[in-house]
Amino acid sequence: MTRGYIQINTGEGKGKTTAALGTCIRTLIAGKKVFFGQFIKGQSTAELKLPEYFENFHIEQFGDGCFIFKKPSETDSKKAHYGLLRCKSALMSGEYGLVVMDEVNVAIKHGLLTSEDVLAVLNEKAEQTEVILTGRYAPKDLINAADLVTEMKKIKHYFDNGVSAREGIEY
Ligand code: ATP
Ligand code: MG
Repeated sequence: MTRGYIQINTGEGKGKTTAALGTCIRTLIAGKKVFFGQFIKGQSTAELKLPEYFENFHIEQFGDGCFIFKKPSETDSKKAHYGLLRCKSALMSGEYGLVVMDEVNVAIKHGLLTSEDVLAVLNEKAEQTEVILTGRYAPKDLINAADLVTEMKKIKHYFDNGVSAREGIEY
């Protein structure tokens, strides 16, 4: 069995969650199970429907809609902590080829979790399980702990010209 590494997709450009989903497809096609934990988000995303196509794809959301433009609530914080516990149990179980902690960096940035909380969970990961953390603002100590860190650099983004998220492209 090969060992699993810690990956981070961060930066201001598009593709952090999309790249993680691409790796999910590869892991599934390799016959392994995927746990996809989605922090912050509580809205309908395409990935929520992936279990209809892949029985080995398990997804849970730990957000309350999107607070991003207001102050996070007590519920946001409770959901993030519950999400961390769920990811911890998936990481420790040895059952999954890949665990994704989508937008976990954003949960840290907004003070819902600390990077120490997340590091403690990563330290308990089963040897063979790969983990991908996504979201802008990856903190330094998580970057230090990771084996592969990719920064998506924004050259242009149509969001800046008023193009909001589109079904089939962004969700
Ligand atoms: P994708 O899921 O398309 O791979 P991502 O994971 O790299 O994107 P996120 O930071 O998760 O990017 O952003 C998700 C959505 O947030 C974008 O689709 C966009 O509609 C919206 N958004 C909000 N603010 C910005 C911004 N300043 N620049 C770009 N996108 C933004
Ligand atoms: Mg994302």
